[in-house]
Amino acid sequence: MIYFDNSATTKIDRRVVDVMLPYLYESFGNPSSKYYSLATTAKNAVEEAREQISLLLGCEVDEVIFTAGATESNNMIIKGVMELYGGDNPHLVIGKAEHSSVLETAKYVESQGVKVTYLNVDRYGRVNLEEFNDCLSLSPTLISIQWGNNELGSINDIEYISRRCEEEKVFFHTDATQVVGKIKISLNEIPVKFLSCSAHKFHGPKGIGAAIIRKDTLGIRTKIAPLIHGGGQENEYRSGTHSVHNIVGFGKAAEIALSEQPDAADILEQLEKNLKSKLVSMFSEVIHFNSDDHNKIPGIVNIQFKGINNELLIKKVSDRVAISTGSACSSSKPSHVLQSIGLPLNEVRNSVRVSLSKENTIEEIDEFCSFLSGK
Ligand SMILES: *Cc1c(COP(=O)(O)O)cnc(C)c1O
Repeated sequence: MIYFDNSATTKIDRRVVDVMLPYLYESFGNPSSKYYSLATTAKNAVEEAREQISLLLGCEVDEVIFTAGATESNNMIIKGVMELYGGDNPHLVIGKAEHSSVLETAKYVESQGVKVTYLNVDRYGRVNLEEFNDCLSLSPTLISIQWGNNELGSINDIEYISRRCEEEKVFFHTDATQVVGKIKISLNEIPVKFLSCSAHKFHGPKGIGAAIIRKDTLGIRTKIAPLIHGGGQENEYRSGTHSVHNIVGFGKAAEIALSEQPDAADILEQLEKNLKSKLVSMFSEVIHFNSDDHNKIPGIVNIQFKGINNELLIKKVSDRVAISTGSACSSSKPSHVLQSIGLPLNEVRNSVRVSLSKENTIEEIDEFCSFLSGK
């Protein structure tokens, strides 16, 4: 089986599994329990993972809040900021190409009385910066713009966007789920206030992620209303017993990504180039790339095969190759991301996403291409 759906999830790294296993069996303690060694061992493991994640993101250790994944982080930050800071005129700004976990959260708070502005995106899914700047002058409560797009791979200029938000004293959140572990991130150098990410998108376990909540310039924690109430874990931001084995795996995946990311990016760029040039030479009459060539996450390619239904194509190759129409979450509906970049529905229905990982090979690309051509 050739796995080309790495934007949906990635295969867990063997080294990650190895460090997780002891915390499922021998070291099963609850890190919130006290005094005995089973508890302190678990607590220390959680704190070591927190440090590994802070190193990957270039933020402070105590700015890392563990959640069950990026969907939860996006919900927690958007709802938690709107609830605490919305006041009489709550106003949320998001891009039209956001992941459904941001988009649907925005629709929910809209149904609860929040004004939501949806920023248009360009033909590759990057937010229109003129509209963004116009919105800033309205002093919205929160602006949420993804760092990298999960269907097109396009990267927004988060350094510029976060700086403008800071200048205008507007809270800024970015869903960085697709870029964490894939591009260099250094939060201490840019004023991103809130960030969401998830371990399973970079060879970690599923069901674990983080909400990064930055401290203010005086070093004081930024408060948001919690989404989940209970025992007060994670400094009251997120109650519930820590998923220790998942947290340990998340930390290890972060450590591996930090040391291997530059090499992985090189491999992915080579694979992407190779794939695109082969596809162009084999299918020049019917092929069009929806994704950009530059300023993107390496390895994500969105391809239109004119006149060929995407679901049928995916089914046809599914015995040997895993590819997708786009987001795993909305596979039954035509992609809102591709609609947001202006594609008519017939072109959306001819589009498939190939998302590679550093573990893929040129041989797999060859096999995929010859399989597509019916050989
Ligand atoms: C996968 C993904 C999510 C959701 O992450 P989960 O941890 O699976 O909830 C959110 N945003 C983006 C951009 C994603 O790619």
